[in-house]
Amino acid sequence: MSHFFEQELSKLKGVTPQRLPLLQNELRLFTFADLIQYYPFRYEDRTHFHKIREIHEGMEHAQFIGRIRSYEKIGVGHKQRLVAEVSDESGRIELVWFKGIQWIEKTIKPGLEFIFYGKPTFFNGNLQMTHPEMELFKSQEQTEKSFQPIYSLTEKLRKKYIDSKVIAGLQKNLLAISFPYIRETLSEEIIQRFKLISKQEALYQIHLPASEAWLHQAKRRLKFEELFYNQLRLVKHNLIRKNSYPGQIFSSAALLKNFYHEHLPFELTDAQKKVIREIFNDMKSGQQMNRLLQGDVGSGKTIVAFICMLLAIDNKAQACIIAPTEILADQHFKGLSVFAEAMGITIAKLTGSTKKKDRIELFENLANGKLQILVGTHAILEDPVVFKNLGLCIIDEQHRFGVAQRAKLWEKNQNIHPHILVMTATPIPRTLAMTLYGDLDISVIDQLPAGRKPIQTIHRFDAHRLQVFGFMQREIEKGRQIYVVYPLIEESEKMDLKDLMDGYESISRAFPNQHLSILHGKMKPADKDFEMARFLKQETQIMVATTVIEVGVNVPNASVMVIENAERFGLSQLHQLRGRVGRGADQSYCILMTKYELGVDTKKRIETMVKTNNGFEIAEVDLELRGPGDMSGTRQSGAVDMMIADLAKDSEILKFARETAIEILTADPELKEEKNQVIRQQIALQRKDQTNWAQIS
Ligand code: ADP
Ligand code: MG
Repeated sequence: MSHFFEQELSKLKGVTPQRLPLLQNELRLFTFADLIQYYPFRYEDRTHFHKIREIHEGMEHAQFIGRIRSYEKIGVGHKQRLVAEVSDESGRIELVWFKGIQWIEKTIKPGLEFIFYGKPTFFNGNLQMTHPEMELFKSQEQTEKSFQPIYSLTEKLRKKYIDSKVIAGLQKNLLAISFPYIRETLSEEIIQRFKLISKQEALYQIHLPASEAWLHQAKRRLKFEELFYNQLRLVKHNLIRKNSYPGQIFSSAALLKNFYHEHLPFELTDAQKKVIREIFNDMKSGQQMNRLLQGDVGSGKTIVAFICMLLAIDNKAQACIIAPTEILADQHFKGLSVFAEAMGITIAKLTGSTKKKDRIELFENLANGKLQILVGTHAILEDPVVFKNLGLCIIDEQHRFGVAQRAKLWEKNQNIHPHILVMTATPIPRTLAMTLYGDLDISVIDQLPAGRKPIQTIHRFDAHRLQVFGFMQREIEKGRQIYVVYPLIEESEKMDLKDLMDGYESISRAFPNQHLSILHGKMKPADKDFEMARFLKQETQIMVATTVIEVGVNVPNASVMVIENAERFGLSQLHQLRGRVGRGADQSYCILMTKYELGVDTKKRIETMVKTNNGFEIAEVDLELRGPGDMSGTRQSGAVDMMIADLAKDSEILKFARETAIEILTADPELKEEKNQVIRQQIALQRKDQTNWAQIS
């Protein structure tokens, strides 16, 4: 945008001194640019006018032109209402107001014609409309408007009579004077290729659409632009990094072949082989690897991680893996130790609770290179942790790793940045991966190891608990073990802990002959370990726990997962939890317990879980239901804050935007070509514009 758009809102016709502070404080609109980019979030179709005779109950909305015949006030005090009779040549309708009666009385003089809009109802056999929107009908021109923009507003604004019409009016004033100043932000080439409308036209049509078709074009154009610049920046980061940071070249693979042929406990899936090839290609390319590895729960990411570590170790480098929690670090350590031992490789664990004495030795071996694999939590990022030669760092993450943290990792090798492999704990939708991790290359394990029996998921209401207990009893008699999980959500921690304890007691009563374990976040690590170990050794049959068992825990003999208050869990969390069973040879079950009354979204979550075991499908539904900002892993990340694009719906546009960005930057990395000057200029402008950008890059 240009200087014109930096002007303060107070300079705009219609922004009165009364309105100005409201627009500033309630909507954070300060400049012309802010206003014009304040897009409607939906539109009301006002293209159609009804005859009163055509209006019937059950219509979502109706719009008509009617003449006031008469009105009367009925009742007194706060029960008073004003009822007006309105007609056109086809029939009559009653309009009713409970509030603002004084103002209505002054406005609706009998004989005047108005355009009315609202939801029709029937009351005592009469067609009625309560609190309709109204506008004095003066000329036919008024009926030519079509899609009315609806802006998101606050209660405070409405109280001061700033509604969507007022905002649309301001937009109209602004558009009237700003047209010559709206710069095109996409190159002619792109506009032609995707048959986009101009920026000017798009801004006009997004606020004051002439028709549904125009509105569609305006959205398409603005979404493309937003996603294109988002992808352009991410792709550029990726390319810059590839070109400026060399990577250690790992070419010797003897160790790996040995492991593959002598120690691999099973045949790798084709998907595992494919991603290993992709990773290997990076690790011998001479450029630093920055790759995201996606795979569903149980798809076998751990073995892939280990095989990649072998490649680093074979080439005289060290490897580390960082997990989001102690429990998961533990699990990784135990799992990897088995392989490491078989291969004669040294491995150690570092977490917040590693004792000082152990640390000293560990640091020493890390610095002199005796220690080859380090498994741990974020403690690995701390300063005293110095590697001799860190070659590969794997981040098994649940939450997004901040930029600062990633930078810290890079510094763990002063000579040459380590290769970085980020593994997601649960799948995320493709669109989200592209935006959140657009600066990384992406590998996907899209296949589960053969021979797994799909987990059966069942929904039961709380009232059927006895039946569920009966089922649990039968499974225990078959020799299986069971998880019962309770939600623990921080805000209501005390209450939740009580739920857990109550649940524990009722299960103790129901299963007097079984041994129970309990696990929750408030327990000391040693106690947690103890309980976990008992369960693993099958000394206990039922594990009553909070979501601390969510990540990583692997007990193949546990084949039933009962999730209490399942309505309180998010989809990805439910899927993660379910992934704790189905790890052995037996048929596994996941039972979702809920109360009887469920909201629409909750129903959809439960239905989705019952219907599919596919984590990628589940992630798509999650994105649809929650929007990108609330999905796990995306919190605190501004990267998904979009003004107009919708990551749940715009995957096609995003795909084109990314492909176009890659194509342009590959052909013209510095954006020096004449045809790309528009793009270059736009990037420079956006850089000045703090919004959105600073958080991401
Ligand atoms: P995740 O991707 O969830 O981290 P894991 O790496 O924990 O999955 O693997 C889940 C289980 O599947 C482990 O017990 C692992 O040993 C096993 N596994 C991994 N790959 C294969 C394979 N190709 N064939 C059979 N079992 C496998
Ligand atoms: Mg894992």
